[in-house]
Amino acid sequence: MINIEGPLRTHYPVVIAGGGSVGLSLAAELGWRGIECLVVEERTGLNQHPRANAVASRTMEYYRRWGIDSAITKAGIPPDAPADYLWVSTLHGRELHRISLPPFDELVASRIAGDYAEDEHAWSPYLKTITGQNEVEAVVLNYVGGLAPVDYRFGWRLLDFSDGESADGESADGESADDGTGGANETVTCRIEHLGSGRVETVSASYLVGCDGGRSTVRRQLGIDLDGRAALASFVSLYFRAPDLINKHSFGHGNIFFPLHRDNRGFILTWDDDATYTYHLILEEGQDWESIDPAKAVADVLGEPVDIEVHSVQPWTAHALVAEKYRVGRVFLAGDAAHLFSPTGGFGMNTGVSDAIDLGWKLQAALQGWAGPDLLDSYQLERRPIGIRNTEEAADCFDRLYAVMQYGDELDATGPDADAFRAELGVDLKDQEKLISSSGTLLGYRYEGSPIVVPDGTPAPPDDARTYVPVARPGHRAPHLWLDDGAAIYDRFGPCFNLVVLGESPPDPSQIVAAASAAGLPLEVLRVTEPAAREIYGADLVLVRPDLMVGWRSDSVPADPAAVIDQLRGAAHLPN
Ligand SMILES: Cc1cc2nc3c(=O)[nH]c(=O)nc-3n(C[C@H](O)[C@H](O)[C@H](O)COP(=O)(O)OP(=O)(O)OC[C@H]3O[C@@H](n4cnc5c(N)ncnc54)[C@H](O)[C@@H]3O)c2cc1C
Repeated sequence: MINIEGPLRTHYPVVIAGGGSVGLSLAAELGWRGIECLVVEERTGLNQHPRANAVASRTMEYYRRWGIDSAITKAGIPPDAPADYLWVSTLHGRELHRISLPPFDELVASRIAGDYAEDEHAWSPYLKTITGQNEVEAVVLNYVGGLAPVDYRFGWRLLDFSDGESADGESADGESADDGTGGANETVTCRIEHLGSGRVETVSASYLVGCDGGRSTVRRQLGIDLDGRAALASFVSLYFRAPDLINKHSFGHGNIFFPLHRDNRGFILTWDDDATYTYHLILEEGQDWESIDPAKAVADVLGEPVDIEVHSVQPWTAHALVAEKYRVGRVFLAGDAAHLFSPTGGFGMNTGVSDAIDLGWKLQAALQGWAGPDLLDSYQLERRPIGIRNTEEAADCFDRLYAVMQYGDELDATGPDADAFRAELGVDLKDQEKLISSSGTLLGYRYEGSPIVVPDGTPAPPDDARTYVPVARPGHRAPHLWLDDGAAIYDRFGPCFNLVVLGESPPDPSQIVAAASAAGLPLEVLRVTEPAAREIYGADLVLVRPDLMVGWRSDSVPADPAAVIDQLRGAAHLPN
């Protein structure tokens, strides 16, 4: 429910500080699981300045489970619009490179016809969905508003909290207080201010999650530092409406334009039907973002003036930073509070949403009493390496893009030398396609060495930014496939663990079911008879975790099913 006024309750199982994309997604995941939570968001409404435009296929797979995927698609670029990305000198100069993805409608039609133009179209029900972050948040907020377990509050700020532990994981008396479920203290105490009245209330929570963005109060209070590369570049983001702009250049619709000329370098994102844009202009060192005149900046890149109506102007800085820890006792970090990205590649929000999905079921397990002592710690052991991997990939995309933004008028010069220069540049620009086509990054991540995954000894496929290898190796994403009745296999997975039984004559899984039941671990059995599923999943029995990751697989029932179940719930570790 969405609430502004009214007193808070004295206790919530989970308090989420920050109600942006990640806080909303965590609230949705918890609410969908029936777990009560409070979300406090200091803004009085959603941030209307669009930042992310690329909703990853993985994120859409989670949203599909909540039934909001088509609302997100509809809220974005029209589904019949081509998805073109253009590298240009300026909007009045040359096209230097282009990548074209099929419109969403075409993708659906080719799937129904069983005709995939490329492997990439078969890896997920979605490619990239181009919907502004403000629109995405509005759809998720609407979903959250219908979830009785969620108490979402605009206009409330987390001031501080106490759980008796410091950043090194020790309690005030120097003893390690962590028994796995959060430490000797039963709760964390949060002081929360109602900004309209200045009233401060105190609530206790079993767990606190800081989804409070790059300046995270929660991270700062925990004393957690960020590692990596700070301040790759500073930008000013101009959000404006200019219906006539498309008529003043010759490129037609583009989802993103990358002007490379050093005087105009940055990127221009198109929203709606080619009338509204954000121009992210890279600032020179020491340049003040407030000194930028939006109308002049747009006229400069376009080569002539155009009428613009400015909606908002915001500065931002690209980083590649990851928190040293994602958890201290009962307090967790997720999203930008845990990692700060360069937006090149479109990974920041999407990585944060996957954090929320990893954490959601683990908090549920801890609250419902079926988590073992390693389960909550597995959150940072699984997600922090992905934070490092993805921030580094985004920084690599930034470095490659920035390297080709050093040129001036030679980009548009004529003559054989200029042609030769552009041909050479074209090779670099082809390399930039992973900015857009990044299924390997978005789908191919894996939780190598996780204490709650049972390895099966098979080798890992290469971790390549562009190419995803569908594989149900433990620690990887359960692969997507369409079933014979037209459903996605994900549509069959419940919110609990799913034991997928495949092949022509699989073993009887009842001993595994009994072991799960004895441990209190919620498990459903899903019989899938399609031969293609057996082929992709690579075993007769595959245990898919509540976050759609594979935890274990085998062709036979394990000798000690209880030991496997215990490892999946973080209660024991099998010898490798
Ligand atoms: C230009 C640009 C383009 C981008 N493009 C993409 C893209 O295409 N794809 C992608 O995945 N990512 C993209 N990103 C990154 C994405 O915007 C962020 O990663 C995402 O917003 C992180 O979400 P969050 O919820 O963690 O943090 P935020 O969106 O920062 O939300 C944090 C919220 O916490 C609130 N808050 C802070 N402190 C408190 C407190 N003490 N109490 C209560 N509330 C508090 C804030 O008001 C805010 O609403 C882009 C970013 C930029 C700048």
